[in-house]
Amino acid sequence: MDIVVCIKQVPDVPNIRIDEHRMTIIREGVESIINPLDCVALEAAVDLRERQGGRITVLSMGPPQSEEALREALAFGADQAILLTDPAFGGADTLATSHVLATAISMLKPFPDLVLCGRQTIDSDTGHVGPQIAEELDLPQVCGVNEIDLQGDSLVVKRLYDGFLDTFRVNTPALLTVSQELSSPHHIPLADLERAFSDREIIRWAMKDLNLKPEEVGLGGSATRAWKLHKAAPKRRGEVVTGSPQSLVEHLIRKLEALSILDEESGNE
Ligand SMILES: Cc1cc2nc3c(=O)[nH]c(=O)nc-3n(C[C@H](O)[C@H](O)[C@H](O)COP(=O)(O)OP(=O)(O)OC[C@H]3O[C@@H](n4cnc5c(N)ncnc54)[C@H](O)[C@@H]3O)c2cc1C
Repeated sequence: MDIVVCIKQVPDVPNIRIDEHRMTIIREGVESIINPLDCVALEAAVDLRERQGGRITVLSMGPPQSEEALREALAFGADQAILLTDPAFGGADTLATSHVLATAISMLKPFPDLVLCGRQTIDSDTGHVGPQIAEELDLPQVCGVNEIDLQGDSLVVKRLYDGFLDTFRVNTPALLTVSQELSSPHHIPLADLERAFSDREIIRWAMKDLNLKPEEVGLGGSATRAWKLHKAAPKRRGEVVTGSPQSLVEHLIRKLEALSILDEESGNE
């Protein structure tokens, strides 16, 4: 089974900063990680390859530094890594991002049996990209799956949605987006990381390798423009309290009394 896993390098969320003038995320100088759900997808791909054989290709569209995420994915167990990078791809909305990814997938030989994406990212968080790739490639899709089984040539996938467990039989080739419950990503051995960062090749495709035009990618290929962007004021304030269990309970009771959530009489009971 040939599997493509789409991975996005994202800024580690607590460190995200916003360029309020350009209305974009500032990615430079911020520590980056593989989007956590993409690691879940990668683990599922490794598991399917163990059961069925085949090859895993990881694909990422992003600036040159996204190569790090791809190298990590190689260390994780991927067989091949392709970085889609070109200054022309900058400023892409989800439609332009999906178009570049779908075009790259359509150029793979053989065409993959399965494309896996995370359900959403921790930075832009739209959940658009997987479904849009599936639409462009005319693939059946199921979003947010938490179980994948193989039955002959088809996949039986399950997802929990609104308290109901849906089960689908999907013919391949297909695209699935995955949710957290699908798998627990394994720990990457240091030696594999070292090898991936020193010996392994990253294939790079730019706009012209994909036979795309400037009006199809980046800002030119985007159907939307960010109109306004500002940081929302935090509504809640957290407080870390330390001490013995007895003093913590007394502290909490005093707080609840001060907020009139607990009256003094019941607090002292
Ligand atoms: C109007 C607009 C302007 C934007 N301008 C910029 C900009 O100037 N610079 C900028 O950096 N971003 C910009 N963005 C953000 C950019 O569009 C998104 O980062 C990108 O489209 C992915 O969307 P998402 O993170 O919501 O993915 P989701 O749809 O939430 O992601 C789901 C899954 O799709 C896959 N996926 C998503 N993105 C990629 C990727 N790049 N490579 C491989 N797999 C992927 C992953 O498997 C991921 O788990 C802009 C967005 C909008 C709407």
